[in-house]
Amino acid sequence: MKNTDPKNWIRPEILNISAYHVPDPGNMIKLDAMENPYTWPDEMVQEWQALLKDTALNRYPDPASQSLKNKIRIAFSVPDEMGILLGNGSDEIIQIIAMAVSGTDRCILAPDPGFVMYNMIAKFVGMNYIGVPLDADDFSLDMDAMRAAIKQHQPAVVFLAYPNNPTGNLFDAQQVQEIIQLSPGLVVIDEAYAAFADDSFMNRLGEFPNLVVMRTVSKMGLAGLRLGYLAGPASWLNEFDKVRLPYNINVLTQVSAEFALKYKSVLDQQTDNLCQQRARVFDRLSALPALQVFPSQANFILVRVRQGDANSLFEKLKEAGILIKNLARSEGILNNCLRLTIGRQEENDALLEVLEQYDFSEIQAGINGS
Ligand SMILES: *Cc1c(COP(=O)(O)O)cnc(C)c1O
Repeated sequence: MKNTDPKNWIRPEILNISAYHVPDPGNMIKLDAMENPYTWPDEMVQEWQALLKDTALNRYPDPASQSLKNKIRIAFSVPDEMGILLGNGSDEIIQIIAMAVSGTDRCILAPDPGFVMYNMIAKFVGMNYIGVPLDADDFSLDMDAMRAAIKQHQPAVVFLAYPNNPTGNLFDAQQVQEIIQLSPGLVVIDEAYAAFADDSFMNRLGEFPNLVVMRTVSKMGLAGLRLGYLAGPASWLNEFDKVRLPYNINVLTQVSAEFALKYKSVLDQQTDNLCQQRARVFDRLSALPALQVFPSQANFILVRVRQGDANSLFEKLKEAGILIKNLARSEGILNNCLRLTIGRQEENDALLEVLEQYDFSEIQAGINGS
């Protein structure tokens, strides 16, 4: 008797995970996914559309995306002697790296809480995932725990998001360096939020043979294009390139990204605005005693609802037409936390208004059942 039940064939670790869930924002103010909220000036949109009109969809794209890579090298100061690999979002780069090193005796290690795809992709490729808890007070690296975990598990790859998502902080650079030096395998510094942060490891490539830097254009205004890049020694990147599917960067993305980088000053202005908004939102939130507000070097701010229930506040914001990320259900360290993406001034004002009017004692009462 044959058994075609998928449960008989799909690997147990896949059966056991739930799919990455993206809520439908409808008409809500979207402050949940770290998108840049700004659009382009009209003339820029027109010039881009004219370019698309001349783009041939009947031909395969350049498999090496050479022209785009050259532009990326200049725009983001990738050192001359380092290679560049492009991915369909940095998510795909994580997948490429994992596929290239995978094995049942191999693991991926990252601080926890961290970016969820490290864990998910490890499972996709049949690797173990080791999450090492961050310091529960300020989300800094717990170095004793990191040293012990690296020694014990000998990870093939360590991912360090710099700044970290969902906590928003930059880890201590000296401690990151120690992890790079201690690690037996590759260390990927994931700089998805580089545009909003004061520090980077890009100019330290080459100092360590096992260091690569991963970035994305998603958070700086081009999330819809799906484009990430990995910069690092050719000895690593040449191997990863073998695992990359030939035409992973489609022709519309190649053309559009090159175009956008020609007007990088427009995107830079937008990220500057968001950094100013971040400072303003941070100050206003910090004035609310019911919230613990964590400093951020990214385009979002993590808050903990100290007094009351974050789930109720999340629902209240939803009723007011504002979608944020609810982390309150996470166990442990993110308990009662919400992640707020920084939006346009008027969007942030709408968010702040709800928070400032909110009666936190009410949810406190709710929790106590009184
Ligand atoms: C958003 C994010 C990514 C994924 O970016 P894409 O290029 O959109 O796939 C990777 N790492 C971190 C830490 C992120 O927050």
